Amino acid sequence: MKVSFLGLGAIGTPMARHVAAKGELTVWNRTAATAHAFASTDRCVVAGTAREAGAASTVVITCLPTSREVDAILGGPDGLLAGMSPGSLLIDCTSGDPASSRRIAATLAERNIAFLDAPVSGGVNGAINGALTVMCGGDDATFARALPALEMFGKKIVLVGPVGAGHALKAVNNAWLATHIWAAAEGLAALTKAGVKPSVALEVINASSGRSNTSENLVPQRVVTGAFPRTFKLALLEKDVAIAAEFIREQRVPSAVTQQVAELFRVARDMLGEEADHVEAVQLIERWSGVEIRG
Ligand code: NDP
Repeated sequence: MKVSFLGLGAIGTPMARHVAAKGELTVWNRTAATAHAFASTDRCVVAGTAREAGAASTVVITCLPTSREVDAILGGPDGLLAGMSPGSLLIDCTSGDPASSRRIAATLAERNIAFLDAPVSGGVNGAINGALTVMCGGDDATFARALPALEMFGKKIVLVGPVGAGHALKAVNNAWLATHIWAAAEGLAALTKAGVKPSVALEVINASSGRSNTSENLVPQRVVTGAFPRTFKLALLEKDVAIAAEFIREQRVPSAVTQQVAELFRVARDMLGEEADHVEAVQLIERWSGVEIRG
């Protein structure tokens, strides 16, 4: 199966690696050196432009920061659209926004190109292990066509609704993640100040009803150890929570908690910058409360 993959970032690289191992891969990356470095270890062809990548395969996968970048690489004389042929399929694994996906799908449909939004969850480790969850928005026929490509890196792959539904669900998932991180930091900072060891607090919470992936994995592995590895940018999580806040409001559902978390992550992004990891938000609470959540 011929697949083109555009966007060799933190999560795109391990996803594309699975495609290289199981299919015939063409890659394109904005910074060409990254694509050439990838090709030095993984079997693939490097496309010089997005257009070339679009022309090389009938299944094209994008994994870019936001829907804005997907829009940007679609257009223009060297853009994806100029290369993709009628009858081909674009799978967008970006954590994008639902409205942009519906607009992009409509533009592609005019050229008889199918579209599936297919954002992923599971982090870089999940991608390395081929164990990502993939939440898809599109019709049944498009999902069936996309499945063999998605199975190369995904484990739980679900069609959740029409175009845009995958992006909406991903945004809600990540709004929960952001909420858990912020709430965990507040609670653990207070417990630490009160003399409860973070590892003891986590041992108890992880056997109780407040546990989450944040308490079971992120905080023990990244905060308590002080490791704070950079695997998923806080800027990208901030973007996801903003999409969720907008989506919930659009559905006329009260969104006070999500709006608040969106605001907090906006402040965190401004203070910590574009390169900070999402878990570094905890460091703001630590700074403001004068305590470190370690040990
Ligand atoms: P990175 O910031 O690591 O990588 C972004 C990629 O997009 C790079 O290949 C970059 O190219 C490319 N890019 C950035 N701007 C442009 C542009 N204007 N035109 C063309 N290409 C561009 O992001 P991630 O890989 O972490 O994330 C990608 C998507 O996956 C995001 O939507 C994110 O929310 C989502 N995601 C990430 C997870 C993670 O754990 N990292 C987990 C689940 C979802 P260049 O090399 O030139 O900078």
